[in-house]
Amino acid sequence: MERTRIVASILLLLSLYFQLSSSNEVFEESAGSSFRRINDAQDHGREVHCSRERSRAAWKAIDEYLMPFVEQEGFQISSKCKLHPDNDLFRNQERLKIHVDDNEWQCGYCKKSFSAEKYLDQHFDTRHYDLLNISHSKCLADLCGALHCDLVTDSKSHKNKCNPAAAARNRHLCESLADSCFPVNQGPAAGRLHELFLRQFCDAHACSGGTKPFSRGGRKQTSVFYLASSILIMMLLPVFYLIVYLHQREFRKGTQELKRISQHGRKAKPS
Ligand SMILES: [Zn+2]
Repeated sequence: MERTRIVASILLLLSLYFQLSSSNEVFEESAGSSFRRINDAQDHGREVHCSRERSRAAWKAIDEYLMPFVEQEGFQISSKCKLHPDNDLFRNQERLKIHVDDNEWQCGYCKKSFSAEKYLDQHFDTRHYDLLNISHSKCLADLCGALHCDLVTDSKSHKNKCNPAAAARNRHLCESLADSCFPVNQGPAAGRLHELFLRQFCDAHACSGGTKPFSRGGRKQTSVFYLASSILIMMLLPVFYLIVYLHQREFRKGTQELKRISQHGRKAKPS
């Protein structure tokens, strides 16, 4: 009798605990086989069903491996396209992040500093939820399957066994993005970007292997190369000018001496 009462009270406490914890944080498996954290923002009366980290990874993939080509073509992505920055719930907040150095992240809105990006994320979640672009309520993390987010965040654990059904689903999502963002009937630039998007993002969604994502390269490599070469040139340029200057000075000295010698010679000759 006593034992059943104890067991009943333990069960009651456990159920209370789970109810409380589940109202704060719920883990749910999304369609893209990724775990998404759901912040039940009850105190501000709105809920956000979108992962900030994965949205950031998706944006990084777009910014590094697509935008350089879009800019090169001078193409305007329509806001109906899911890749448009307006469709990223967190874009306004992410734009306000100031990365001072490795141990300092600053909120561009209220200038408060944090030792790590995750604390700034928490600050945005609690203090500046009004900056979330929930009018569109579009979640960029939903595109992660198509955009190879795992590769962008360099998580090494993506070497799982290929699932043909998941690959086909991601490929379908990828191709629908290409069709909606770069409609082939919108002119040659849209046609070229459509082709590029398929090669860059969609081809790799196959279990047969062979093709790798981002085969056309991206902003990162080119910008690092550009930066390195410009620094090298900036460093070598003064050295080059110094060598030229010294050489010319030596040369001038030499010619002056020659002149002096020849003048001496001329003066000595007539006698
Ligand atoms: Zn702030």
